[in-house]
Amino acid sequence: MKSFRKELSFNTKTRRAYINITRQVRQAIDESGIKEGFVLVNAMHITASVFINDDEAGLHQDFERWLERLAPEKPHSQYMHNGFEDNADAHLKRQVMGREVVVAITEGQLDFGPWEQIFYGEFDGKRTKRVLIKIIGE
Ligand code: ZN
Repeated sequence: MKSFRKELSFNTKTRRAYINITRQVRQAIDESGIKEGFVLVNAMHITASVFINDDEAGLHQDFERWLERLAPEKPHSQYMHNGFEDNADAHLKRQVMGREVVVAITEGQLDFGPWEQIFYGEFDGKRTKRVLIKIIGE
């Protein structure tokens, strides 16, 4: 069995962002040389997510509105967590959108269902944050 590890880094200009990282994951699979196995992709921060869904701009606006209804950023004072920080909403949004995804690799390709794409969801950006890609297989 082979294993391969790689980190991606992001520094978004906005507090929240949704970034399609499918191309970078495919590139990591190519670099690994692994043809049959699994790829794990996870956010390395507790205020960001990695998730799978459709690459459709309207849906991303819907995520944004839905998450803001569930856990509005402001007023910051509404959250117990916001003493020294102002990112309680980002922790809650990350919890809803998830930490990681695992995708099968078959014949060297992501074994996706229809329209599946991998996204990095940033909820407390404007600083450098990382995503881990770990691939195991042969
Ligand atoms: Zn915090």
